Amino acid sequence: MKFDVAIVGGGPCGAIAGKYAAMHGAKTVIIEEHPAIGEPVQCAGIVSTRAVAACELDRGNFLIRSVQGAFVNAFHHRLKIDGHSEKAWIVDRRLFDRELVDHAMDAGCALFLRSKVLNSSRGRLELRISGEREFIDADVIIAAEGVSRKITRSYLGDSNLPKIIPGIQAEVSCEFEDSRFVELFLGESIAPGFFAWMIPTEEGFGRVGLCVADGSGRLPLRYLQKLIKEHPSITGSITDMVIGGIPIGMARRTVADGFLAVGDAAGQVKPTTGGGIYTGAVCAKIAGSVAAEAALEGDTQEKKLLEYEHRWRKSIGRELAIGFAFHRWFSRLDDSTLSQLLEFLSEPEIKEMIEEFGDIDRPSILLKKLARLPKMKAASFALALMKSF
Ligand SMILES: Cc1cc2nc3c(=O)[nH]c(=O)nc-3n(C[C@H](O)[C@H](O)[C@H](O)COP(=O)(O)OP(=O)(O)OC[C@H]3O[C@@H](n4cnc5c(N)ncnc54)[C@H](O)[C@@H]3O)c2cc1C
Repeated sequence: MKFDVAIVGGGPCGAIAGKYAAMHGAKTVIIEEHPAIGEPVQCAGIVSTRAVAACELDRGNFLIRSVQGAFVNAFHHRLKIDGHSEKAWIVDRRLFDRELVDHAMDAGCALFLRSKVLNSSRGRLELRISGEREFIDADVIIAAEGVSRKITRSYLGDSNLPKIIPGIQAEVSCEFEDSRFVELFLGESIAPGFFAWMIPTEEGFGRVGLCVADGSGRLPLRYLQKLIKEHPSITGSITDMVIGGIPIGMARRTVADGFLAVGDAAGQVKPTTGGGIYTGAVCAKIAGSVAAEAALEGDTQEKKLLEYEHRWRKSIGRELAIGFAFHRWFSRLDDSTLSQLLEFLSEPEIKEMIEEFGDIDRPSILLKKLARLPKMKAASFALALMKSF
C-alpha cells in the first residue's frame, strides 16, 4: 500500500493533520493502534473555547458543561477567579476525538484501527494489523503518537525530545460549590511542582487529578489517594482511573527527511497547565498542509519540510517558551513562597487584573502584566520570574 501522507496516531493532532493533508489533495491515512478512537482517555477534558474553534468543532454531544473560572486553593487561601462568561468546555474526550476523526474521514482521509506502527525508516512503516505484519509506504510520515514517541525518537533522536512529567486522574462522586468553576489545588504536599484539579462533569461527579513536576521521581498515585481521602467534597468511590504523561518543553527539532512530529510527540503542550489540545491543533493544521504540499510536489527533504517547523514556532513558539520559563520557576516554589504568592494574587486590584487578562492559552499576556507591577517587583518571587523572561 502506498500513501502520500501516513499519520501515526488517531488522537486530536493526528485527526487534524489528517484532515488538512486530505483537504490539500494528498492520499492520506491515519494509523491507530487501538480498536476505537479516543480510548483509553488520558485527559482532564478541559478545552478553552478558542481550542474548540481551532479544532473547527461546533457544540456537539462531546460537550458536558461549560465553565467560566476557577477556585484556586492553597493553605488557608481560596481565590475565586471569575471570567464572567464561558471560557472553557468540559468535554468527553472519547466523543471529542471521534468527531475530529470523522471530520478527517469526511475530508477523504483513510483510517486503520487496531494497527500498531512497529518501526519506520525512509518512508516505510512496519505495522501489526490485527496480529498480522504489513508494510505501508508513504512520502511523508507524521508522528502524532502522543508521549509514546517511539517513531519520533527513531527519526529525531532522544536528546531532542522534552522531559515527561507523570499525571494521574480519577473519576469520583463529589460535590462542587459552583459547577461553573473548576477547583485547583497548590502545595508541596498536594502536587509538588505542579497542581491538582477537580473538574465538574455530570451532576454529582467530577474528575480529580494531578501531576508531579518537582523532579523528585515521586509517583503521583499516593498524592491522588491522599487528596481523595482528605477532600471533604469527595463523597464517593473512584469509578475510573487513568495514568498519563505530559511533555514539558518543545522538541528541539520536529522535522527530518520525509518526517514531521506533531502534538505531544513534539512537545507542543502548554507547560503552565499541561494542556495540549489547543497548541497541538494549531500545529497539526500546519503539519497536514505542509506534508501534503511536499508529497504532491515530490520534494520531501528536510529542507522543504522545515517550513512546518518555522511556521509552528512563529505561531506558538514564543508563548510556549514563556510558559516553560514560568513552569521552571513555579515548579521550584516552596510552600511559604506559594502562600505569599496566593496572598498577593488575592489583593483586589491583582485579582481584577487576572480576571481581565487571564487567558488559559496565552498566559504570557497576564504574566507580563503582573511581572511589571511595581508591587510585584518588590517581591522576591517576582524577581526570579522576571529574570526567566
Ligand atoms: C492526566 C492528563 C490530563 C490532561 N488534561 C488535558 C486537558 O484538560 N486539556 C488539554 O488540552 N490537554 C490535556 N492533556 C493533554 C492532552 O491529552 C494531550 O496534549 C493531547 O491528547 C495530545 O494529542 P496528540 O494527538 O498529540 O496525542 P494523543 O492524544 O496521545 O494521541 C496519540 C495517539 O497515537 C496512538 N499511537 C501511539 N503510538 C502508536 C503506534 N506506534 N501506532 C499506532 N498508534 C499509536 C495512541 O493510541 C493515541 O491514540 C492531559 C494529559 C494528561 C496526561
